[in-house]
Order: sequence, then C-alpha cells, then structure tokens
Amino acid sequence: MKAASAGDRVLIVGSGIIGIGCAHYLSKAGLKVTVIDRGSVAAACSHANCGYICPSHVLPLTEPGAFRLAVKSLFNPNAPFRIKPRFSPALLNWMWQFARRCNRRQMLSAGHHLKSILDSSIAEYRRLIVEESLNCEWKENGLLYVLRTDHGMREFAATDRLLTDNFGVTARRIEGHELPSFDPALKPDLAGAFHYEGDVSVRPDLLNTQWSDRLRDAGVTFIEQCSLQGIAKSAGCIRHLETSHGEMNADRYVFATGAWSALLSSELECRIPIQPGKGYSVTMPRPEPCPRYPMLFPEHKVGVSPFDGGYRLGSMMEFSGYDSSIPERRIQQLRESARPYLVAPFSEGHQQTWYGWRPMTWDSLPIIGRVPKLENAYLATGHNMLGLSLASATGKLIAEMIQDHSTHIDATAFSPTRF
Ligand SMILES: Cc1cc2nc3c(=O)[nH]c(=O)nc-3n(C[C@H](O)[C@H](O)[C@H](O)COP(=O)(O)OP(=O)(O)OC[C@H]3O[C@@H](n4cnc5c(N)ncnc54)[C@H](O)[C@@H]3O)c2cc1C
Repeated sequence: MKAASAGDRVLIVGSGIIGIGCAHYLSKAGLKVTVIDRGSVAAACSHANCGYICPSHVLPLTEPGAFRLAVKSLFNPNAPFRIKPRFSPALLNWMWQFARRCNRRQMLSAGHHLKSILDSSIAEYRRLIVEESLNCEWKENGLLYVLRTDHGMREFAATDRLLTDNFGVTARRIEGHELPSFDPALKPDLAGAFHYEGDVSVRPDLLNTQWSDRLRDAGVTFIEQCSLQGIAKSAGCIRHLETSHGEMNADRYVFATGAWSALLSSELECRIPIQPGKGYSVTMPRPEPCPRYPMLFPEHKVGVSPFDGGYRLGSMMEFSGYDSSIPERRIQQLRESARPYLVAPFSEGHQQTWYGWRPMTWDSLPIIGRVPKLENAYLATGHNMLGLSLASATGKLIAEMIQDHSTHIDATAFSPTRF
C-alpha cells in the first residue's frame, strides 16, 4: 500500500454497505478515506435486510408483466409489490420509464450486466471475508426457492430454464416429497423447490460492523451524525461540502447516499432517477424447527433468513415516497405469508420490526461512475434489491475509476450518463 499524499483524499457521503465497500477498496489503494453519514454507520437500508449474496438474482425487476402487477397494486393495499396512489411527477416519470423496459429484450440485456457485476462481487467477497477475518455468519448454503403449488412450480421451472439457458445459472430441482428430509422446517405438502447452490448468506448487521471496524483499524475515518447540506462548486469541480459539522473538503467525492440520492440531482447537475422502494423485515428468536437454508417463497414474495442467534422474515416493495411508517398490518402479513410453507413460521419473544428504502432505478441497474458535469464527483448508488450482493464489486469499480485505471468489468451500462 502506498502512503496517501495531498491529492489522495476521498470523502464518501453515506456509510451504508455501498459506502463501506467503496471505503474498503479506496483505502486498500492507499487513499485517505473519510466517510460521513447523517445517521449511524449502516443504520439505513443496509441494516436488517435478508442477507443474501445471490448471483441467482440476475433477473431485473423489469420483467414482462411487472408493470401490470404494479398497476393492479394501486387498488390493493396488501399487494407485496405496491404503488401507493399519489401525485408525484418524478414517480410518474419513473413508472413510465420502468414500464417501457418491462419486456424480454430489456430483461435479458439488464440481466447480462447484472450477471457480470454479481459474479465479480461474490468472488471479491469470498476473498475479502477471509482476508479481513469478517465473522458475519458467511454461509455457503445456497438459496432455496420454495413453491407451494404445481402451477407455481411450473412457472418457476420456466424461470429456472431461462436462467440456465441465458446466464448459466443452474439450480438443483427438489420434488415436494423430498423437501421435509432436505429441510425439516418445511411442511410436507409443498410442490417442490429449486436450490441455487452458488448463493451465499450473511448476517448483514454483523458484516457492516465487522467490515467498518476493520476499516477504522486501517485508518478510515467514519463521522456519524454528520449530514451533507450543500455542495460548493466551481469550474466543473466540487470545492467543498457544506455539512452539519462545517465545511469539509477532499480531492474526490463519492456519493453513496442510497435512496436519498435523487435529492442530490440538482446540486450534482445530473439526473438521478431513484425512487425509494420500501421493504420490511421482522427479526425474532429462532422458531423450532428453524429452517436450515435461507429461503424465498416466490408465490408470496417473502424471504426467510435463519441466523445463528435469530430468524428473519423480509419482504414487500412499496413505492410510497419517503414514508417511514411501519404499519402493523404489513408486519402481520409478513408473518402470515410464511405460514403455508413452514412448520413453525414464527416464534414468540422479542420482535424487531424494521423498514428500509431500497434505492430503485427504472432500469434495475446500479449507478456507478463519474458525475458527468463534475470532474471530481462519483456516484455509487441505485443498487435496487441487490446492494449487499453488489457492494464489493461496486467498491472495486469506484476505486478503479478514481485512480483512472481500466475497470475489471465493463461498467458502461452503470454510467450516470445513461439518463
Ligand atoms: C426487506 C429488504 C430485504 C433486502 N434483502 C437484500 C438481500 O438479501 N441482498 C441484497 O443484496 N440486498 C438486499 N436488499 C437491498 C439492500 O438492502 C440495499 O440495496 C442496500 O442496503 C443499499 O445500500 P446503500 O448503501 O446504497 O444504501 P443505505 O444503506 O440506505 O445507505 C445510504 C446512507 O446514506 C446516508 N445519507 C443519505 N443522505 C445523506 C446526507 N445528505 N448526508 C449524510 N448521509 C446521508 C444515509 O443516512 C444512509 O446511511 C434488501 C432490502 C430490503 C428493504
């Protein structure tokens, strides 16, 4: 590692998993890194998500039929994928752009871009989990997609074929009668499952704390409760940031501000079409029996994450603006959605409820790259439903871009210039 010099200071705004990933690779490159956050480290969307690092998730949200589902949800407050009716020109434009992309051609194209960054990310994680001794319940158990009905099984088999034929992502098919011995937490009357053995899971809060602690040890400065309030610019460069802690300057600036990034559009003089896609989770003591495998139930759109010391159900995608409420009805729905699948769908004891705003782009791709009109500003945001899965490769790309190196994967599709 080379010593930092006067031109080597990087200021990252946002300490979610993406800010942490960027800090890691920038610090490894010998740059002097400071991370600020208006809250605590990784306390927003990166805190209590499902914990999957999942190369099987190559398919974007912009699938054929997704827009029809979104429109239907306007009239159903309980739909797992829901747009809350409200007048917002930004949301209407986002929806229009999203609708235009819900076709097979765009789905496959976005899928190929996601595949390259997902593959890079998991390879990076495998290396750095060992190198940094991150004890975050890293489990190479795969991810089990469980189907309740024969119809669901047939539909998912078509998706599985598409994944194999187009992306080389393969699963092991498990028939319903085999499931109870595969995972005794599953009910005996289910139709079957597909096991994506290449997926991994972690406990996200452990990964966040362990990784940020290692970075502190390596000299990265984290400043919490420090809010970005303004950006001073001249001659196509950022001069300094105005923050709740006063002026801060650096040589390069990275904005890893998740779902809030859209609010920086006018200051950064570039379009950042991100909408918050709100999801919920509830974490509780492990039920008995507790699932052995992390699972998704595509027919109910619920994720199940077994941890060593707990158990989490996570789901929903609500487009309701920056709404921070956690309606009890949604949490109840989350708990009930696991009932058709699991012998013990939930446990009693302390229930920790949570929401997170996913940074959703209309083309399902992240935004990683230099801000078009500002020479020393970079965006690392818009990771949709995959921020945890993509954090390592995102950090690596940002470090490569900031050092003017060629990137290890083609990042053109992620460029902020595409809007
Ligand atoms: C229910 C649920 C389950 C999920 N499961 C998974 C999963 O299994 N696998 C996966 O890969 N992804 C999953 N995700 C998605 C993932 O959580 C997100 O993509 C990821 O957390 C986004 O990370 P981020 O760092 O961009 O945003 P955040 O974690 O939200 O961080 C952004 C940070 O920027 C800070 N900030 C914003 N504005 C300012 C400002 N003006 N000044 C200072 N600081 C600012 C915020 O305080 C925040 O800390 C899930 C999401 C949800 C909701």
